[in-house]
Amino acid sequence: EESGQFSFEKRRQRHPIFKHRHELLYLVKKHGVTVVVGETGCGKTTQLPQYLMEAGWAEGGRLIACTQPRRIAAQTVALRVSEEMRVSLGAEVGYSIRFEEVTTPGVTKIKFLTDGVLIREMMADPLLSRYSVIMVDEAHERSVTTDVLLGLLKKIQKRRPELRVIIASATMDAASVATFFDTSAERIKVSSVTESLPDRKPASITVEGRSHSVRVHYSMDPVSSYVLASVSTTLSIHKMEPAGDILIFLTGQDDVDAVVNLLNTEAENFPRNSPGLLVLPLFAGLSRADQELVFRPAAQGRRKVIVSTNIAETSVTIPGIVYVIDSGFAKQRFYNPLTDVDALVTAPISRASAEQRAGRAGRMRPGKCFRLYTEDTYCNDMKPETVPEIQRSNLVSTVLQLKALGIDNIMRFDWLAPPSSEAMIRALELLYAIGVLDTDAKLTTLGHQVAEFPLDPMMAKMVLSSSSNSCSSEAVTIAAMLSVQSIWVSSKGRQRELDDARDQFAVVEGDHVTYLNVYESFLRAKQSPQWCHENLINYQAMKTVVDVRKQLSKLLQQLGITLKSSDGDIKCILKTVTAGFFAHAAELEPSGDSYKLVRGGQQMYIHPSSVLFRTTPKWVVFHSVMVTERFYMRDVAISDPEWLTEVAPHYFERRRRSQLPS
Ligand code: ADP
Ligand code: MG
Repeated sequence: EESGQFSFEKRRQRHPIFKHRHELLYLVKKHGVTVVVGETGCGKTTQLPQYLMEAGWAEGGRLIACTQPRRIAAQTVALRVSEEMRVSLGAEVGYSIRFEEVTTPGVTKIKFLTDGVLIREMMADPLLSRYSVIMVDEAHERSVTTDVLLGLLKKIQKRRPELRVIIASATMDAASVATFFDTSAERIKVSSVTESLPDRKPASITVEGRSHSVRVHYSMDPVSSYVLASVSTTLSIHKMEPAGDILIFLTGQDDVDAVVNLLNTEAENFPRNSPGLLVLPLFAGLSRADQELVFRPAAQGRRKVIVSTNIAETSVTIPGIVYVIDSGFAKQRFYNPLTDVDALVTAPISRASAEQRAGRAGRMRPGKCFRLYTEDTYCNDMKPETVPEIQRSNLVSTVLQLKALGIDNIMRFDWLAPPSSEAMIRALELLYAIGVLDTDAKLTTLGHQVAEFPLDPMMAKMVLSSSSNSCSSEAVTIAAMLSVQSIWVSSKGRQRELDDARDQFAVVEGDHVTYLNVYESFLRAKQSPQWCHENLINYQAMKTVVDVRKQLSKLLQQLGITLKSSDGDIKCILKTVTAGFFAHAAELEPSGDSYKLVRGGQQMYIHPSSVLFRTTPKWVVFHSVMVTERFYMRDVAISDPEWLTEVAPHYFERRRRSQLPS
């Protein structure tokens, strides 16, 4: 139905942002910074970069960047824009996300990339000199990397005043960002040509939406399970309401899978000839083929139900939605500098998020939003705005990256919202303990390597220190296995089966060595999709692992580290895991089921998905924390107090403030 250049052109002119095309291009020409506020779906992400290209901003080998907080958004919008421009993905329009670059040097003009990847590019090209315009998208989300990127761009503009920055946001009060970027009162020495330079006062523009009214319905009573409530609400919408697709907001892949399975089971019982449901999941780890399904219209007479995490809140626009079901929750990062625990917590969303979610229902015609919480909860319990992520995150990666970019005084970095000094101190302590900072808080040689390695610092440390235990081959496999969302197929509804499948591979030393076992079995099975299917292993995820592993191995080789295998010496592997993750060491408590974090003292439990869930060894290290009613350790390996003192002799002593690196 979208055939011919003509229809695409027509379509493009129908976006609300089209009316502002001239004004936008004028502002970008005249001002160093332009803040664009426009409701989700008005055309910021897909249209603005095209306008810029048409106006000549990508001429002379320059690039237009558009950053996204999420990998999946970078992929889907790049694909969409390449379709609109009728070019193949990776040619004029491409994307770059960690472990996957789909661009062509010399050809690509518009590049969608995660803000993390753009920050990483600064390590090789500190002034981002290839870019003429950088559009920071979804700025209202205030992710850690977006905040850091904005601070860095402000700094770059002092050296490169001709660089244009566009800040696109669905909700943010534009004034605060505009103020942050307003350097017009500062005296800045600019070398020679001043005439052609843009105004240092930021411009702001608001693009009105095209949305219809959305009627909001609240739950009468608090809901005990939003999984079950979203299933029953979907069924009653399907029964009572006229045609129109449904979008359900849940928190993570687990509940998404649960709802998809429950709805599919229900749909099997529909009477013949009654209109059916097409139920599709949407979450960050989805394969590209599955992502594309979400955007396709359902066959005639069927109602599409998209079951999503909060990625459909603003960053991905799905056409055809008339009904929204909002669980009222999202997985969010929370960090406590006192216990030094950084965890993903399922927590209530803010009222601003709830409004965004409801808004998804009004894109096509008047819609309805069903909130699975009471009006009282909305008014009295939900915060008006989401707290910026930087104020509820562990700062280890951020501090390391800033240090690697030559920003020594982290405390005095120009933050959009400053993080707490406790969190900064914790980060500096850890970076010192893993040996990437010296006593003057300067990057060591290892520090430069860790900063450039595309893994979080603890994982990078594990991989880089593996050569001293002669198990680099295993270390890169573990890192690659932990870099995918999950190597198992969707679990809900078939938990028993999945436990059995996992038990076949279980190794008593813990999840890391179990992952090695899965990977090696996959190779022995000649990477067969059939074998994966039989063992409930996600074939796509394993292909990604193979690819990521190849990239990491290459990077290690470039650093002069040859891939050696420990030939079955599991102790070496465990020691290597400890060398990276000692900060996540926990000791079994006398009760025999809970653990205590060695530093910080937080009480923890082994997550039921871990192979160590039943054996509860005395000492463990783990990869990440998940919080529901308890603090759960995920991806757990056996450790040993001797190894801990060996790899981090001072980390567990209570150090005096004066001894902290500053
Ligand atoms: P914004 O960034 O302002 O939220 P977008 O540029 O993402 O808006 O989307 C503009 C419009 O383009 C949307 O309203 C939607 O109708 C359409 N659109 C965007 N992505 C897709 C897609 N992958 N498939 C179909 N339509 C899309
Ligand atoms: Mg957008």
